[in-house]
Amino acid sequence: MKNFVYTRADTTGGAIALLSQQANSKFLGGGTNLVDLMRENIEQPDALIDVSGLSSAGISDLPDGGISIGAAVKNSAVANHRLVRERYPLLAQAILFGASGQIRNMATTGGNLMQRTRCHYFYDEAARCNKRVPGSGCDATGGFNRMHAILGASENCIATHPSDMCVAFAALDAIVHVEGPSGQRTIPFDAFHRLPGDMPHVETNLRPDELITSIQLPGLPFAKTSRYRKVRDRASYAFALVSVAAALDTENGLIRNVRIALGGVAHKPWRAYQAENVLGGAAVSIETFQRAAEAELAGARGYGYNDFKIELAMRLIVSVLSELSAVGGQR
Ligand code: SF4
Repeated sequence: MKNFVYTRADTTGGAIALLSQQANSKFLGGGTNLVDLMRENIEQPDALIDVSGLSSAGISDLPDGGISIGAAVKNSAVANHRLVRERYPLLAQAILFGASGQIRNMATTGGNLMQRTRCHYFYDEAARCNKRVPGSGCDATGGFNRMHAILGASENCIATHPSDMCVAFAALDAIVHVEGPSGQRTIPFDAFHRLPGDMPHVETNLRPDELITSIQLPGLPFAKTSRYRKVRDRASYAFALVSVAAALDTENGLIRNVRIALGGVAHKPWRAYQAENVLGGAAVSIETFQRAAEAELAGARGYGYNDFKIELAMRLIVSVLSELSAVGGQR
């Protein structure tokens, strides 16, 4: 690992100033992904600015029935918080499925948004990878791509986003609060991460000099009836082959509100707008759920080893919606 300068920031403004003063510097949260990448020489910052103490106690109630989560709040604290468990059970479930207790105790909420793909070619310096070396090619496209994307990919990159927590945030219409030298702004969650296009090395719409300060979850009463389901290659901690985060609200046998997002299928947490369009106002039935799943996956493409994900994603959407409608979505 390359030597680097370590500085602990005391304030958000101080952290932003330090980043602008030191070339090739990065913010450090829990370090559960960044330090791994530095050990592999994939990331080689000259300076790290530790922001893990800036908002580490900050989960607060909002007037609209939502909550605000400070960017430095640990994953464990989010998953165990009473307001999260009561109002957004899919978020607590996603975090608990995401990583071991040790990692959840270190990893921060903001850092979770910034973690990078686990595509094995990205970590292998002998492989061609447009994300690591722009313009070099992509060995995953014709290689072993079992974990790779089926939606929104490009010829330049078929990597997936690894987060579970972010799939829940996508379903919940989270809002990302950020701050930089030019002030504060908000980014809708669906606009935070990018599809690969011809610049897979640019993964978010966060500017290089900006810091995530908090995540806002709007009030969404029907999110009490929600689930996160993850299919993975082994029962202990592993990244998703496909995951589904969903919340469902039904009345008199009709679907009044629904939110669905998919994980393990795209370069970003994938909000299932096509499925939601089919479901809105429709009758609660397996046939409706199947039509919705087919609409969402109509544009999917496999790359050989990951072809199975298309059918798997459809079945998982139907299964989760069926479970939600039986458990409590129908009144
Ligand atoms: Fe690199 Fe993306 Fe191709 Fe993986 S899929 S090798 S991350 S360009």
